[in-house]
Amino acid sequence: MKSGLLLVVSGPAGVGKGTVVSLARERNSDIVFSVSMTSREPRPGEKDGENYFFVSREKFLEMVNENMLLEWVEYCGNFYGTPRLYIEEQLEQGNIVLLEIEVEGARNIKQQYPECVSVFITPPTVTELRKRITKRGTESPEIIEKRMQRAIKELEHMDNYDYIIKNESVEESVKQFLEIIEKERKANRNM
Ligand code: 5GP
Repeated sequence: MKSGLLLVVSGPAGVGKGTVVSLARERNSDIVFSVSMTSREPRPGEKDGENYFFVSREKFLEMVNENMLLEWVEYCGNFYGTPRLYIEEQLEQGNIVLLEIEVEGARNIKQQYPECVSVFITPPTVTELRKRITKRGTESPEIIEKRMQRAIKELEHMDNYDYIIKNESVEESVKQFLEIIEKERKANRNM
């Protein structure tokens, strides 16, 4: 890593990590967000270039072949990947770059950037997680079940992360997240 701070955030779908991350970004304007590429269909309200770059499976695999992605995975039937160029540029400029990705991708990034700081956001309980995944109401029962199974598997990986935040209250989680960033920023000699 050149000079910025690379932050990797994971947590099962439905855990509320999107909310924690977007509130943290509102409160710390030094954080830049890496927009991933995906072959999944946009959910209502999602915008291309903002939530994701939405592309076809063919286009996605083309990007993979051209080595434009730093890491990528197939998750519940769709492709997701991190565009390489943006991360490299932002780190070179000394920014705090935030990736919100699942556990396999996070492990891959940790191998490429051992200095990155990884944070896992966990639900208070598995029952609460099911409630949250179901409540979103945008997915079919089969997809919900698939995501639930995947979420439970993801919880097994949380000990590999530098920090774990138990998301009982969004406000408290955002506070903890911003404190982690401050602490790591001070520890990063380049910032
Ligand atoms: P969703 O479909 O709910 O937006 O995302 C599904 C999962 O894919 C989430 O855990 C999310 O963090 C993860 N994800 C999003 N973008 C990427 C990416 O670029 N790479 C990897 N490995 N995972 C991603």
